[in-house]
Amino acid sequence: MTSALDSIRAGEEQNIVLITLDCCRFDTAARARTPVLDCLGTLRQAWAPATFTLPSHMAMFSGYLPNVTDLPLQDYYSRERFQLWRLSRAKNKPRDSFGLMLQGDTILEGFRRRGYRTVGSGGVRWFLTKTLTHEFDRFMFWGPKDYLNWFQSRTQEDFALEHVDEIVAQVEAASSWFLFVNSIETHAPYNNGVDDIDERLTNIIGRGKPIFAGRRDFELEVDLSPADFKYMHRAQIRALEVADARLGRLFERLPKPFVAIVTGDHGECFGELGRWGHGFPADPVLKVPLVVGSVDS
Ligand SMILES: [Zn+2]
Repeated sequence: MTSALDSIRAGEEQNIVLITLDCCRFDTAARARTPVLDCLGTLRQAWAPATFTLPSHMAMFSGYLPNVTDLPLQDYYSRERFQLWRLSRAKNKPRDSFGLMLQGDTILEGFRRRGYRTVGSGGVRWFLTKTLTHEFDRFMFWGPKDYLNWFQSRTQEDFALEHVDEIVAQVEAASSWFLFVNSIETHAPYNNGVDDIDERLTNIIGRGKPIFAGRRDFELEVDLSPADFKYMHRAQIRALEVADARLGRLFERLPKPFVAIVTGDHGECFGELGRWGHGFPADPVLKVPLVVGSVDS
């Protein structure tokens, strides 16, 4: 039987779910135990289109997924070889180098014009602005409400993937659908709503606050040791393991078949270049995981 992924490669419409694991760097995905992602497809290292949430998602909604450049190039997303979809206004490319051709300025317009219902949910605070959400037929925001404190621990309610019933209800009646989920487990403060609040992690994050998001002020005395950075990275790995289990529940409930793309919008520095966070160019900020596959039954 032809898989949904093979069929979209051949230019046939399929239902699609795009998941962005916010701040998830490539080696986090390589080290985490992720049975759901493992079952979906091969983990590849890809290059994020930008260093923070807003431009990275704008690029993705404009047709650019994180790009696999290592050999073997992928026949789902290596820009020079093959793209699952592309916008008709983009530069001319041979017909055998892409799957779906989408008409419009964004993929959301393109899917809508093909009759898809477009549903989004998230996430980090960029999804509170219309810039990223106005083109969806429906966008549902789940995330921490208090943006005066970026590091406020999240509760289970704050994770989009804990709202599977509401998400599935938005797509199950549609004949075709494009679903987007911005998943924030892997974003600082890396707590996942399942494990108890980790006092050591809270303490490390408290000490690191002045340099979060790549701030680099040599006048600042920030007391973070290599072991502290390692501890934060391990918390991100654990957060991804929890997100993976949540993804499994979403995949189970969505109408099948569908194509799933799971990636990072950007990564995170954990002490490399003396920095913590993202929003500046550095390998750990730009190298993200990409897993593409189909869930056929
Ligand atoms: Zn982000």
